[in-house]
Amino acid sequence: MIPRLRFAQLPTPIEPMPRLTKFLGGPRLLVKRDDQTGLAFGGNKTRKLEFLVAEALAQGADTLLSAGALQSNHCRQTAAAAAKFGLACTLVLVGEPPAQASANLLLDQLFGAEIIWVEKSRRDAVLQETFEKTSLLGRKPYLVPYGGSSPTGVLGYVYAMEEFIGQKVNADWIVFASSSGGTQAGLVLGARLFGYQGKLLGISIDEPQRILQERVADLASEASERIGPRLNFTADDVLVNAEYATPGYGVLTGAERGAISLFAKCEGLLLDPVYTGRAAAGLVDLIRKGFFKTDETVLFWHTGGQPALFAEKYQPELV
Ligand SMILES: *Cc1c(COP(=O)(O)O)cnc(C)c1O
Repeated sequence: MIPRLRFAQLPTPIEPMPRLTKFLGGPRLLVKRDDQTGLAFGGNKTRKLEFLVAEALAQGADTLLSAGALQSNHCRQTAAAAAKFGLACTLVLVGEPPAQASANLLLDQLFGAEIIWVEKSRRDAVLQETFEKTSLLGRKPYLVPYGGSSPTGVLGYVYAMEEFIGQKVNADWIVFASSSGGTQAGLVLGARLFGYQGKLLGISIDEPQRILQERVADLASEASERIGPRLNFTADDVLVNAEYATPGYGVLTGAERGAISLFAKCEGLLLDPVYTGRAAAGLVDLIRKGFFKTDETVLFWHTGGQPALFAEKYQPELV
């Protein structure tokens, strides 16, 4: 048995987006609401953390240690999970402490996480040093990998695919934001294990296409060994579009702003400025270019992230 805690609100609903479908005049559009998974405003990290925190507890850990961007959703949800299970939390965040914390960073602090600030180039070294220092103090840290994307974290999305198939909703395409690759790896592995016939298209947020394809293939192959005999995936098994990643991580351009506004005005649905805003911008652009057939159904798998809408950094740029 794979250790798993159960705190996510599952299954997440699948909803039609009729007004957006009509406005764009393309394929039928659906959304799967993984922004509603629960745990401190929800998002895709909740599913990963069900397996990661279970592993940490099974190993006798007393501290969750992770790293990310200043407005990391992953770090916010890790800090919440730590609080929920009585663990300490240390976060190594890239950047400098702002005068006033907002959004995800504010929540990290509310959950009582200890924050260590680093320059990007020192992130991995400081994470390792912090792990060692914490151990030397007689504590037992558990390293939650970047974005929760270890083979253990990937399991969250393997079973998310099983959940989706159980919902018996037909979708020719599933489109979603992909960055550290764990979400996509889980969906790809789950598709093979449980027999999803449609296509899984990851919109890269910040990685070149080949690098992300290879990372997803490696993660999916490794994660398969947790469940049964190893299945081998190659980069060519993984669909990634990296055309929308060019502005760089966390940079809000007219494309993201347009998608955020469109989803909000057509469907009353909130996207986030970093991940789902960019992925939806890609989806909208692909629809306008005629990439999908109009008789197809496209499901946008919403991965959360909305607290970042309230980050000071994005306030002047959003509307
Ligand atoms: C982390 C995150 C992603 C990316 O998921 P990966 O598994 O890292 O590829 C997408 N959307 C949101 C909102 C996230 O926080």
